[in-house]
Amino acid sequence: MISDCVFCKITAGQAPAKKLYEDNDVIAFHDINPQAPVHILVIPRKHIRNLLYVDEKDALILSKLIMVATMMAKEQKIAEKGYRIVINTNRCAGQSVDHLHIHVLGGRIMSWPPG
Ligand code: AMP
Ligand code: ZN
Repeated sequence: MISDCVFCKITAGQAPAKKLYEDNDVIAFHDINPQAPVHILVIPRKHIRNLLYVDEKDALILSKLIMVATMMAKEQKIAEKGYRIVINTNRCAGQSVDHLHIHVLGGRIMSWPPG
């Protein structure tokens, strides 16, 4: 737990979030500033700064993050039409919260290439 990390605070129940799923390793909740009709974040409870800080020991957590993202897409009914998962890594890619998270986006047409 990093005391000034907003996502650590959410995992510890010290900051509010509209949670959709949680288990011992992973939490999913609605993004506070949605960029699509469905915009969910899936995060590990463990503070991992971003993909560059993933350790071999984190392999199970990483696979769980992706599986929960898939579960969210199905539950939110965006799986059939199409959805996108995004992991922004460092500033030029748009990472603003330094706690690993997967964006699950859907419910509208996505452009390519991304901005
Ligand atoms: P990124 O820019 O890839 O680091 O994504 C961070 C995301 O976290 C953004 O989409 C924010 O809207 C979202 N966010 C920041 N603070 C909160 C919060 N307290 N609850 C929910 N989502 C948040
Ligand atoms: Zn954190």
